[in-house]
Amino acid sequence: MQYPQLALLIDGEWISGGGRATVPVINPATEEVLGHQPLATGADLDRALQAAQRAWPVWRAKTPGERGRILHRAAELLRERVELLAWLACIEEGKTLPEARIEAGMAAEIFTWYAEEGRRAYGRVLPQRTPGVRMTVVKEPIGPVAGFAPWNFPLGNPARKLGAALGGGCSCIVKPAEETPACAIVIAQALIEAGVPAGVINIVFGVPSEVSQHLLTSPVIRAMSFTGSVPVGKLLAKISAEGMKRTTMELGGHAPVLVFDDVDVEAVLDLAVAAKFRNAGQVCVSPTRFYVHHSIYERFVAGFTARARALQVGNGLVAGNRMGPLAHDRRAPVVQAFIDEAVACGATLQTGGKAIAGPGYFYEPTVLSDVPESARIMNEEPFGPVAVINPFSDFDAVIAQANRLPYGLAAYAFTQSAKRVNLLGEQIEAGMIGINSFTIAVPESPFGGVKESGHGSEEGIEGLDAVMVTKFITES
Ligand code: NAD
Repeated sequence: MQYPQLALLIDGEWISGGGRATVPVINPATEEVLGHQPLATGADLDRALQAAQRAWPVWRAKTPGERGRILHRAAELLRERVELLAWLACIEEGKTLPEARIEAGMAAEIFTWYAEEGRRAYGRVLPQRTPGVRMTVVKEPIGPVAGFAPWNFPLGNPARKLGAALGGGCSCIVKPAEETPACAIVIAQALIEAGVPAGVINIVFGVPSEVSQHLLTSPVIRAMSFTGSVPVGKLLAKISAEGMKRTTMELGGHAPVLVFDDVDVEAVLDLAVAAKFRNAGQVCVSPTRFYVHHSIYERFVAGFTARARALQVGNGLVAGNRMGPLAHDRRAPVVQAFIDEAVACGATLQTGGKAIAGPGYFYEPTVLSDVPESARIMNEEPFGPVAVINPFSDFDAVIAQANRLPYGLAAYAFTQSAKRVNLLGEQIEAGMIGINSFTIAVPESPFGGVKESGHGSEEGIEGLDAVMVTKFITES
C-alpha cells in the first residue's frame, strides 16, 4: 500500500511545497519518518476561509437528498478502501489492525448516518394563536464550521467533524492532527470523488494554536467543534465567545467503572481489560478508575493483573499483537510521571510501570491498586495504558466517588440488579453510561459529556442540530 502525498486541501486544490514549513510524520511503532506534512500559512488559512464562505451557498442550495446521495457515495468509497484506511491508522497512530478496521468501518457509517439524518432536519408548524396568522419553525445550516480533530481516532474524529457539517448543509475547515494527516486526507479524497464541490471542505494542518486563533477570530466561521483536552477546550471556548460562535466541546474524561458483587467476575475482567488497553488507553472514554466491591476486590485485581501481563504488545500490523505503542514521543514521560507519583503516594504497582525499550513508543500495560485519592492519577486524565483499582463497600459512597471529579464524559457499571441499574442511570453524572457494556459510541447515539468534559454532542440527532440554527417565521 502506498502512503499518500501529504498536502493541504483548500478550495478544491491539493497544495504542498511553495516554501511552506513542514513537520515529519512518524510511525510510532518504528520511529520511521512516513512523510512531511506541509503547514498552512496565514495566507492559506485566509484562502480556506474565503473558499468556505463562497462554497457554503453552493452546498446549502442542494437539497438534503442531493447532499445525502453524495455522502452515501463517499461512505461506499470509504468501505471499498477500508484496508488502506486501517493500514494508515496503524502506521500513523499505532493502532492494531483489528481496531483500525473497526474504526475505518465506523468512519464510513458516520457519513451514512449524516446522509440520512440530513433529510430529517424537520421544522414544525405551530398551532394558530390568531386566525389567519401562520407560524412556522425551520432549521437551517448555521454556516461555515471550523473543526479540530485529535490523533487518537485519526479516521473517526475527522469523519465526525466533516460528516456533521456536510450533513447539515454547511461548509467547513477541518484541522486534523498533524501526527495523523494521511488518514484525514484519504477521507477528504473520497468526499471530493463522491462529488462534494470545491471549497465545501477544506483540510488544513499547522501550528494548532495559530490555526485555531486565525479561524476562530474570523467572522466567516459560525460554529466550531473541538475534540481534545479540557485546558485547550477552555481556551478555544474563550476565543469563540468573543465572536459568540456556537461550540461543540468534546473534552477529556476520567471514566469510573463500578463493579458490584453480583457479576460474573471473569466475564467482566475479559471485557474490562480489552476496553482499558484499546488504543493503548488513549481514548477519552477509556475506563480508568475501577471501583470494585470489597468482596471480589482481590480476585478482580489478580485477574486484571494476570490479563494485563499476558497482553501481547507490539507493532499493530503484526497479527496477535493486542496493544500498539503510544501515539507520539510526548506521551510516555507524561504517563510515567502519573505512575511514579501514584507509587510515591502509596499506590501498589501490580504490573507494568515503565516504557519498553525502542524503537517505538511502547509502554507496558500497567495496573495500580489501592491508589490514594490524593494521587494525581485519581484526579487528572492519564490518557495511557494505566488502570487504577480501588475497593468500595457502600453504594452511596461509590456514587460519590464516581461523581467526585470535574469530568463527566463516560461512566460504566456492572451489576445484575435492576434496581441498581435504575439508580446508577439516575445518579451518575456523565454524558454516556455503559451498563454491563463498554460499547457506548455508535453513529445514532449522542456522544458528549457534562461538567468540564464539555457540552454539545456529536452524532445522533444532536450532532446534526449542532450545525443548524432555528428560525421562527410568522406570516399574516
Ligand atoms: P495537546 O493538548 O497538545 O493536544 C491535544 C489535541 O489538541 C491535539 O490534536 C492538538 O493538535 C490539539 N490542540 C492543542 N492545542 C491547540 C490549540 N491551541 N488549538 C487547536 N488545537 C489544539 O496534547 P497531546 O499530547 O497531543 O494529547 C494529550 C492530551 O490531549 C491528553 O491528555 C488528552 O486529555 C487530550 N486528548 C483528548 C482527546 C479526546 O478524544 N478527547 C484526544 C486526543 C488528546
